Amino acid sequence: MNMSEKSKQHVDSCRFCWMCHHICPIGNATGHERSTARARALGISLVNRGAMQLEEIMDNIYECCTCGGCVSVCVTGWDPVMFTKETRLQAALENKLPEYINTLVDNCLETGNAYGKKEISRDLQKMISAHSEKTDILLFLGTDARCMVPEQAVKAAKVLEKANVKFTLLEDEPESGAQLDFLIGAADEAKQQMNKAAKVMNEYKTVVIYDPNDAKIIKRTYKEYGIETGAQTVTFTAFVAGLLRDGRLKPEKTGKTVVFQDPYQLSRDLEETEEPREIISSYAALHEMLLNRKETVWAGNILMAQYLPDVIAEVSKRRIFNAESIGGTAMVTASVSEYAALKNAAQDKVEILSLEDLILA
Ligand code: SF4
Ligand code: SF4
Repeated sequence: MNMSEKSKQHVDSCRFCWMCHHICPIGNATGHERSTARARALGISLVNRGAMQLEEIMDNIYECCTCGGCVSVCVTGWDPVMFTKETRLQAALENKLPEYINTLVDNCLETGNAYGKKEISRDLQKMISAHSEKTDILLFLGTDARCMVPEQAVKAAKVLEKANVKFTLLEDEPESGAQLDFLIGAADEAKQQMNKAAKVMNEYKTVVIYDPNDAKIIKRTYKEYGIETGAQTVTFTAFVAGLLRDGRLKPEKTGKTVVFQDPYQLSRDLEETEEPREIISSYAALHEMLLNRKETVWAGNILMAQYLPDVIAEVSKRRIFNAESIGGTAMVTASVSEYAALKNAAQDKVEILSLEDLILA
């Protein structure tokens, strides 16, 4: 396989190592060693040595959620996310993607979202119409919220309304490129989407990014790919924490005791751990789960549930169990995709809430 020397070095370093298998949310959910970073590296190394075909390992390559749990605990600094994404790109270039991934990629290219949705909900449409006028602030909702969890997108807008913020919502919001980046890595198609989105964002002074997955891509990956955003980009959580500090949101205690599910994109990639805690502490009593902040465990998402629904349900259930284990009865999320995944893991012991739920309660 055509792979950079850097990735090959990381693959060969990981393939016989055992040190991060305990942290992998997918490996822990499937109970299979094949789902972990080390086994993925072994498979890639066999392809690199001509002992296996690339298409034989692709299901395994798409088991990784790229959460970076392995990267963050690796004391020697190796990076399984890097070689996993490079393998996805190579499979796309060689036309060796699994059919279920091809479908998601085709949807991204045809409809702008991996789910193939062509319409958004009536309530969200109404909210967008109410904020269609151009202002200095763009609230960038993101594909998952707009297409799959529109009620949360509406709530995000209501939070800004509550603080009397003048902001704009886009009828034709561009895709940030996050979905294609996950599916096929640094492919031209992903970069084209990113460039298009950056161009739209450049028309605003400030872009408030609702979904942490988009925030990671816009604030980090765009830079890595040399894509400029002239606008000031800020996460929804940091923006809302600022509204509280400035007294524009006046918190009322809900009487709830909650735990916080750190989205890895905020805590590991953007090093933002305290802003969501500031928000939560204004509305509820906050307890900490085992494995919080940078050590967080991913709790599932919407995109991977399209092709691995049972595994993602198990991932979510295991994270809810972490909350239950410390006596938690309510879990607050800052990621719309984790919120949807956790809600989907039907159970009646731990209430699943978003930050918006707390603020609008
Ligand atoms: S990332 Fe580090 S800890 Fe994990 S398998 Fe590779 S070398 Fe081992
Ligand atoms: S990035 Fe996450 S899902 Fe992928 S191997 Fe590492 S810990 Fe597992």
